[in-house]
Amino acid sequence: MIDFACPHCERMLRVSDKELGKAGKCRHCGGVFMVVLVEPPDAAPNEDAEAYQYDVALESSPDTQARVRLEVQSRAPLGNILDTHYLYEEVIAYFHEHRAEDPLALPLTAQACMQHIALAPEIKDAFAARGLSLPTHAGYQVLAGIREKQRRFKDVVEMCMQAKTEGWAGDWDQRIARCRKTTVMKKHPE
Ligand SMILES: [Zn+2]
Repeated sequence: MIDFACPHCERMLRVSDKELGKAGKCRHCGGVFMVVLVEPPDAAPNEDAEAYQYDVALESSPDTQARVRLEVQSRAPLGNILDTHYLYEEVIAYFHEHRAEDPLALPLTAQACMQHIALAPEIKDAFAARGLSLPTHAGYQVLAGIREKQRRFKDVVEMCMQAKTEGWAGDWDQRIARCRKTTVMKKHPE
């Protein structure tokens, strides 16, 4: 959902994400507008943006999945879920650090993040069972960073909301605000 003030009468309106890019009509004054997501002006610097424009199918290919699992298992025998959590943090950092020299490093990073996120509810319960507050979660954090570089802002917002709801530490609100900046056009484009 996106909340904004009508550009004609300033009264608050709400549209669903599906209305993005479409023309709308204010239910108060009948004024016509269009809601569009613009690239956040204060988004992370994008000098290496090209590296992030890989084929997303690479992220979930059987090869990528197998390589991530192998990397996790090669580091230590899997112990309890909290060990697994820290192993994923290491593996994500390892792949991410190699993004300049290995063209598959970013898809591998994304896959490692997705596996880490899939385990998040279980990891969360394990921290709670030990009376510990939730730390940061590399899977959410790094994947949100990758999606932001890819300008998939809607995915970033959804991911940050999920991380925030689960209670992982991080500056989720800041990233959500940055990626959710909207601008409202007064006139229907011709
Ligand atoms: Zn209006």
